[in-house]
Amino acid sequence: MRRPVRVDAVTSDHGPDGPLTVRTDTATYRARVVINATGTWDRPYWPHIPGRETFAGRQLHTHDFRSADELRGLDVVVVGGGTSAVQFLLQLDGVAARTTWATRRPPQWTDAPFDTEWGADVERRVRERTLAGLPTLSVVAATGLPLTQEYRRGIASGLLVSRGMFTRITPDGVVFPPGTGASPGSTAETVHADVILWATGFRPSVDHLAPLHLHEPGGGIRTDGTLVAREPRLLLAGYGASASTLGATRAGRRAARAAARRVAKPAL
Ligand SMILES: Cc1cc2nc3c(=O)[nH]c(=O)nc-3n(C[C@H](O)[C@H](O)[C@H](O)COP(=O)(O)OP(=O)(O)OC[C@H]3O[C@@H](n4cnc5c(N)ncnc54)[C@H](O)[C@@H]3O)c2cc1C
Repeated sequence: MRRPVRVDAVTSDHGPDGPLTVRTDTATYRARVVINATGTWDRPYWPHIPGRETFAGRQLHTHDFRSADELRGLDVVVVGGGTSAVQFLLQLDGVAARTTWATRRPPQWTDAPFDTEWGADVERRVRERTLAGLPTLSVVAATGLPLTQEYRRGIASGLLVSRGMFTRITPDGVVFPPGTGASPGSTAETVHADVILWATGFRPSVDHLAPLHLHEPGGGIRTDGTLVAREPRLLLAGYGASASTLGATRAGRRAARAAARRVAKPAL
């Protein structure tokens, strides 16, 4: 084992029947099989909203969040419709001076039971997309937001009620379009912000695989389990339907077995 190692690129310099080349920040390797398990953590997604660069306060992403205490007494706009945003709002309640929740779509609350069947259904829907070579969607698009008692209380108190999405950022706040303000029929409304907390999710960390041209015209990588349609020497664990703690663990095991079978075959 060698670590720490950053993989800069995986290329097919030796043709489709030769080994893959793995270029890292320390050395270059040749590999008959590469198991890629690079997750999403290194690719936080920051949406572009006009004026973002003019904001004078602090902007941070889920990736950078350490403690609600750092935001004590501040006006915080939390952006994003997923579990991270909901958890931040709950943690900031009574800590921040004021929170405002901004989401592109109404929050997808669900009271479906949080059980094995629900989990299997989520995985099936994500798998359908990756089998079709479509890009993976946000986690919440597949899971919804399972309603807990705490969430219900948050909705009732107004804490977990989205203001919709702002369309502009100013040096000291965010601007919601007319009609979405607290007062009905209001014109565009600026909400003061000291902090914008982007809980806008992550994308698969696969930039280093770009030289392999894995993406389909639909925009995603076509996978069946850990198998990649365009590159048989590569196995993807923790991508698509296996991008969860449990899924990545299972996929890692499957990928390791598949890799062991392949390297057991004599090289061409
Ligand atoms: C904020 C957040 C909350 C989550 N919460 C849950 C949850 O509650 N339950 C759940 O099931 N899932 C959750 N997930 C999904 C999460 O993806 C999985 O739980 C799990 O961490 C995936 O494991 P992994 O090993 O595939 O990837 P990761 O844990 O992301 O590990 C990938 C590793 O690859 C490294 N890496 C990336 N690029 C390179 C490169 N080019 N070269 C070398 N190394 C590289 C990274 O540094 C990292 O060490 C969450 C994800 C996020 C971002």
